Amino acid sequence: MNSEHQDVVIIGGGVAGLSAAAALAGAGAKVTLLERRPYIGGRAYSYDHPALEETIDSQHVVLGCCTNILDLCQQAGMADTIRWYDELTFLEPSGRRTLLRSSWLPAPAHQAISFLHAPMLSLRDKAAIATGLARFLGGYPADDTESFASWLKRTGQTDRAIRHFWEPVVVGALNDGFERCSVKYAGKVFHESFLRSPQAGRLGIPAAPLSEFFAPIAEFAQRQGVTVKLKSGVDRIEHTPDGHWQIQTATELHSASAIILASDFKQTRNLLATLPSPATDAARQLGVFDQFIPAPITTVHLWYDRDVIGLDHAVLLDTRIQWVFAKSRIRRWSAERGCYLELVISASWPELEMGREAILASALQEFETFFPAAKQAKLLKTSVLKEARATFSVTPGLDRYRPQQTTPWTGLYIAGDWTATEWPSTMEGAVRSGRLAAGALTGDTHRFMAAESPATGMMRFLSK
Ligand SMILES: Cc1cc2nc3c(=O)[nH]c(=O)nc-3n(C[C@H](O)[C@H](O)[C@H](O)COP(=O)(O)OP(=O)(O)OC[C@H]3O[C@@H](n4cnc5c(N)ncnc54)[C@H](O)[C@@H]3O)c2cc1C
Repeated sequence: MNSEHQDVVIIGGGVAGLSAAAALAGAGAKVTLLERRPYIGGRAYSYDHPALEETIDSQHVVLGCCTNILDLCQQAGMADTIRWYDELTFLEPSGRRTLLRSSWLPAPAHQAISFLHAPMLSLRDKAAIATGLARFLGGYPADDTESFASWLKRTGQTDRAIRHFWEPVVVGALNDGFERCSVKYAGKVFHESFLRSPQAGRLGIPAAPLSEFFAPIAEFAQRQGVTVKLKSGVDRIEHTPDGHWQIQTATELHSASAIILASDFKQTRNLLATLPSPATDAARQLGVFDQFIPAPITTVHLWYDRDVIGLDHAVLLDTRIQWVFAKSRIRRWSAERGCYLELVISASWPELEMGREAILASALQEFETFFPAAKQAKLLKTSVLKEARATFSVTPGLDRYRPQQTTPWTGLYIAGDWTATEWPSTMEGAVRSGRLAAGALTGDTHRFMAAESPATGMMRFLSK
């Protein structure tokens, strides 16, 4: 299909919808993006808290291997709003620090020197981790049916190797426990972050609140010709006998030759259910949605009168809190503005049941164990943000239910981090899905995809 002659409506202004819109408009299609909320960005958003007079978001990070979102940032002229880090600090409650960072050694040995010196692991732990990582040198399994829990057992991982290495990385990246993560996606994280190349594993942190961070992407899409309509929730879609699509919001009826549903899996199911189709394909399409498990993330936000951690970010070990981000440092606030910290609790099902005060009290107690200086500083403001449907879990066997971006309905495409992208629930997965849907619509599925991050050193020969 020739995109120049297409009228396309995209439903959903998250990262997936924005990337599809920018790609298609750039290829000459007439694109309208309908977003039900008053802002774009979807789950990657920030908001102004009126009582606190602060802008709050849940910290999102990228890795160097996230080539499609980085390409989109480049196109939108905002790549330099990401702050890059080549090292990760792991902290034990005793205050002992381990620094994992790249050295002059070629991949896959680039982190070997700091790994061998890591005080958080014994020699036995390191040997178990090294043999485990060696299994991901060539890549990761194509089959996603084994759980990471089973893999850890099968490869004889020690208790401390699990607590101090496998768990912080897997739970932080995939947002669920080992039973509900497949080896495929855990393996992908380790292959890309620790083995493939120093560049692929670099940690990138947006240096602005997320809505501010994503604004240039929306502006870029608009410069490409996309019409963005906020507060335009779609209630119903319909396929007309002449092959067109009608899209009904509360106040407007849109018509298009093709549509991309770039909404989350729950909303996509609801919209597909409005199609009056008894076809078995339709039934199968609707059935896949029951397989997705939404996973929560809770973040605790703390404002102190002074810097209490002396680091931009760190992984905390043996606690409920997985990460601490010093947002005031990452955003280069002046010292007079004080210190803004975010504590991240991944896979936070227990916290969903807890009240705000209880979460705050427990997080503060843990935090002060790691950073006793916090006890001397003045805690000015606090906030707790629960995101019940932050990501979906890459449960073993889920791949066979993740739908392709094409559907049984002519002219109807779907996008979203949950569709088939070979990525877990991430912004990179969302951009890939949007670009794949846009490509499929033009008849050339991979047309808008960025190149993968290259393997370097010995990994040029080892990586599949
Ligand atoms: C707390 C938290 C932390 C995270 N951390 C990271 C991280 O560190 N790194 C990372 O890569 N990812 C992270 N993620 C995941 C990341 O945010 C998502 O993978 C990504 O934003 C998904 O984008 P999407 O466009 O697929 O879906 P969504 O963001 O869900 O976008 C869907 C959009 O569709 C709109 N919509 C739905 N129904 C309708 C309708 N009927 N009409 C019109 N519009 C509709 C919604 O309002 C929404 O804007 C995190 C997510 C959360 C919540």
